[in-house]
Amino acid sequence: STPSAPSLEDNGCVRVRGAREHNLKQVNVDVPRDALVVFTGVSGSGKSSLAFGTVYAEAQRRYFESVAPYARRLIEQAGVPDVDAVDGLPPAVALQQRRGGSSARSSVGSLTTLSNALRMLYSRAGDYPAGQAMLESDAFSPNTPAGACPACHGIGKVFDATEASMVPDPSLTIRERAIAAWPPAWQGKNYRDILVTLGYDVDVPWRDLPQSDRDWILFTKEQPVVPVFRDTPPAEARAAYARGEAGNYKGTYVSAREYVMHTFANATSENIKKRVSRYLVSSPCPTCGGGRLRREALAVTFAGMDIATASQLPMRQLAERLRDAGPAADEARAHPQTRLVAERIVQDLCERIATLDDLGLGYLSLDRSTPTLSPGELQRLRLATQLRAKLFGVVYVLDEPSAGLHPADTEALLRALARLRSGGNSVFVVEHELDVIRAADWLVDIGPDAGEQGGEVLYSGPPDRLRDCTASHTRDYLFAADAGPRRTPREAQAWLRLEGITRNNVQGLDVDVPLGVMTAVTGVSGAGKSSLVSQALVELIGTHLGVQAEAPDEGDEWAAGDTPLPAGGRLAAGAERITRQVVVDQRPIGRTPRSNLATYTGLFDHVRKLFAATPEARRRKYSVGRFSFNVAKGRCPTCEGEGFVSVGLLFLPSVFAPCPTCHGARYNEDTLAVRWNGKNIAEVLDLTVDAAAAFFGDEVPALARALATLRQVGLGYLRLGQPATELSGGEAQRIKLATELQRQARGHTLYVLDEPTTGLHPADVDRLMRQLQGLVEAGHSVLLVEHDLRVIADCDWVIDMGPGAGDEGGRVVTQGTPGQVAASAAGKTAGYLARLL
Ligand code: ADP
Ligand code: ADP
Ligand code: ZN
Ligand code: ZN
Repeated sequence: STPSAPSLEDNGCVRVRGAREHNLKQVNVDVPRDALVVFTGVSGSGKSSLAFGTVYAEAQRRYFESVAPYARRLIEQAGVPDVDAVDGLPPAVALQQRRGGSSARSSVGSLTTLSNALRMLYSRAGDYPAGQAMLESDAFSPNTPAGACPACHGIGKVFDATEASMVPDPSLTIRERAIAAWPPAWQGKNYRDILVTLGYDVDVPWRDLPQSDRDWILFTKEQPVVPVFRDTPPAEARAAYARGEAGNYKGTYVSAREYVMHTFANATSENIKKRVSRYLVSSPCPTCGGGRLRREALAVTFAGMDIATASQLPMRQLAERLRDAGPAADEARAHPQTRLVAERIVQDLCERIATLDDLGLGYLSLDRSTPTLSPGELQRLRLATQLRAKLFGVVYVLDEPSAGLHPADTEALLRALARLRSGGNSVFVVEHELDVIRAADWLVDIGPDAGEQGGEVLYSGPPDRLRDCTASHTRDYLFAADAGPRRTPREAQAWLRLEGITRNNVQGLDVDVPLGVMTAVTGVSGAGKSSLVSQALVELIGTHLGVQAEAPDEGDEWAAGDTPLPAGGRLAAGAERITRQVVVDQRPIGRTPRSNLATYTGLFDHVRKLFAATPEARRRKYSVGRFSFNVAKGRCPTCEGEGFVSVGLLFLPSVFAPCPTCHGARYNEDTLAVRWNGKNIAEVLDLTVDAAAAFFGDEVPALARALATLRQVGLGYLRLGQPATELSGGEAQRIKLATELQRQARGHTLYVLDEPTTGLHPADVDRLMRQLQGLVEAGHSVLLVEHDLRVIADCDWVIDMGPGAGDEGGRVVTQGTPGQVAASAAGKTAGYLARLL
């Protein structure tokens, strides 16, 4: 109940009139200011289009106009929200998950600015060795020349190639490519043939070669030039060499290590760099011991530790250590000034860490690099920073802040949101989590369905009165008395036994995962679920199946230091039953508008074939390639087939604006002259999946099947050409799932999903679960990392990790059927599950 529901009159309100952004249908809505307003609706209904695309975009536009009149023209191009009017709008701050854009060098400490405070503490109040002069704050930062260790340039690691890293399988012969680090194709054969000439045996298993031979082959600094006899049996080649013959050409030998190091340092192609980086192992820099700083800085301590050590501690422990420290008594007497400074900075640090801890982030260390954080963790970090900024009269717009949070942590999140509001701000959130929806002062429900079938405000008012709104899908879940009858859990067909699993906070864990059923791995944020499932298990199964773990997405920021060490542990039993592994995650399916729904799923290939087969295309001699916007002949020359041009704004992130030549069509006039059943290729890309299914019918069975699966996972509202950049994580995930579903796998596939319900309305979750249950019915295994209690209750088996986060987690607290876990007293999940069952 909401005792004092905010009225629109009391605090004033934000009034939106005639919003038409994306699928919004001339939306008029009033929402109170200084309130927690939650936007709900199924995925694709238009929540983001209203909260971010209209309210936030309009606030931004006004802000830009006020600060930079000259930028107005660019902003107009980049897209002013399609709305008649928005009144009563305060300045807005968006905390959105989709926007990544964090660099490898940014860390938890720099993002929260806690590192600045810590450096100040060490600079002003640290214990210096006798005779050492005081250092500036800068000298404690590995990102400044004043601070960085000169040997490793502040990275803390050095890279090298070892026999084990370059020759992963010593049972192979050199001819069988024992030296995996060698370049592929011709170059690799060239090195092999040189070794033949030099008299090395390339046909015995690597491990049977004398160590001195192995060392020379891998590590020599010599670069001998010898004749190469191609495709010649070794004995003949050597005989010819002995006779002084010239061979096919002269080849230069380079040791594998030299090749790897040189290529890594000098290659301009990211792909080649990535390839050779696999053969590098990192070890702590011998000069700074991994501390990343100059010796002088590491010699300064506070609370008995240097700043590098302090930055590696989980924040919660760091706060404890700092609080307990205090300068030594005689020191304090001698320098009351120092004591005062220390006290003030320590107090500030501890308060800020407490806020982060409240948001379930106390297990993170300051030196944790931001690219390794989940989007949910990153957003909560930003939220904590905002709580500290103590702004007043701002509207905060957030995107599913509960993502990645265990129900036990949601209460703290709600307290944080309440703090922002009571500080005199408006808090607008797009959310699916029922506990957050219930806590709202005001609810805006959009729908009824996705895309064309959505875009209307079904309800705007206090949550309890949503009860009367029969058109709303949210209502069905918000007021459901119980979760309905439960399935009888399936029996495992076999068990996958993992032993000694080691990754991050998971240390030497043994665990059994049932096969042929659906399993949920649960636990608070930071418990080690992803470390166990998405990292260690996925890698071990991948190695077992002989497939490389998927490379990071194109355009991902990448550094050798981010490649983690191979997971420790082994698959002790059961792995032989798994014939394939599919990881369905929420990572974007591409970072540029060049990849889209149609290209990713492969259905565009069928469409292009249809176009190339039309009489008009044949007359013009247009091949399939002509209809790709990645091929120069067919595409618009101005935007090179992107449909957009990138507009750089001074001091602001660059934005995409529609191409002035093709207006987004992506193709040139000639290509657009070809039509299939009346539509040109750009018009086809503009069709929604639903419309395309009707348009193409059963013309091409594979195409029909691809479209049908997309509709089954609830994506019928997406356009075929919808750029990857416009897709939410949840949409990307369902596209991946649909792409998998149409493959109709044989054998036994293990499907691994990390928080598949993120971004999904409970109604979408039900749909997803039907698909996943279907996979289990077809004989496969599904393994989920999940927080959604309805999903957990619907699984056959639950593995609850914890008990806490970071060092306090990494173990299995309890496991069993959902009923057994609910009945057990152990772990944080049991109580919540018991309430539902
Ligand atoms: P929700 O937030 O409820 O999931 P969105 O507001 O993201 O929904 O999307 C509403 C509709 O607008 C969907 O049909 C979606 O495909 C479409 N859409 C979203 N972003 C864009 C965009 N940048 N350009 C065109 N259409 C978009
Ligand atoms: P969960 O999935 O349960 O939220 P994680 O497996 O992501 O937990 O994290 C478990 C622990 O491992 C946490 O202490 C986290 O900070 C740490 N961790 C996770 N990923 C990394 C990484 N890439 N580098 C360093 N530490 C990590
Ligand atoms: Zn160093
Ligand atoms: Zn163009």
